[in-house]
Amino acid sequence: MKQFACGDVVPGCRKTFTAPTEADILGSVGAHARDDHGLAEVPAELVEAVRGRILTLA
Ligand SMILES: [Zn+2]
Repeated sequence: MKQFACGDVVPGCRKTFTAPTEADILGSVGAHARDDHGLAEVPAELVEAVRGRILTLA
C-alpha cells in the first residue's frame, strides 16, 4: 500500500492519500490538485516531488 500526504509538498494542506499503487496515488493527487489547488495540469516537477514523497506501507 502506498501513502502520500499533500502537506509534504503543499504546506498547510491536510489531505492524505492511500492507494494500492503509485499510479493510483498520482491519479488521485492530480484530481485533488485540480479541484482543491486550482491546478489545471500538474507540472512535471510537482509530479516528481510527489513521487519522491510517496511512502510504502507494509
Ligand atoms: Zn493538497
